[in-house]
Amino acid sequence: MACRKDGEMQPNHIPGYRKILTNKILQSKVEQARQHLTNCNLCPHDCGVDRREKLGFCRAADKVVLSSYGPHMGEEPPLVGRHGSGTIFFGYCNMRCIFCQNCELSFGGEGEVITNAELAEITLELQDYYHCHNINLVTPPPGRCTDCRAGQWYRYS
Ligand code: SF4
Repeated sequence: MACRKDGEMQPNHIPGYRKILTNKILQSKVEQARQHLTNCNLCPHDCGVDRREKLGFCRAADKVVLSSYGPHMGEEPPLVGRHGSGTIFFGYCNMRCIFCQNCELSFGGEGEVITNAELAEITLELQDYYHCHNINLVTPPPGRCTDCRAGQWYRYS
């Protein structure tokens, strides 16, 4: 267990996302993500589209659409801890849940296009300024390629 009941990290815990910085796994994931962008099968819709040129079911292209971000205190207590869950809301989603609370974003794509570098900066702000206990991507599948590239940007910047 990485997180104690009081929301603080256990001493000497090295999260998985830090471990992949010390080996070639991140680079491999970035390459896999790039391939998905050209023939997207990131979710069971299996659209097979090249997202640089055409939209699939989720309507997410190859750029990140950021709707909002910040510490989220409304998640389950183990995720929230004392400082909140570092939530990043993206435009577009592959789920189409009829009860979606965020339909302006998930269906309508409300938000603005940002760069991978800006997404990386946001994750660092949630970590270093807000001291959030985790990064909470809502909803991850369509944005997974760009999330991965943001991680790479941070690694090599
Ligand atoms: S992530 Fe989007 S484009 Fe890719 S398979 Fe799923 S719905 Fe289709």
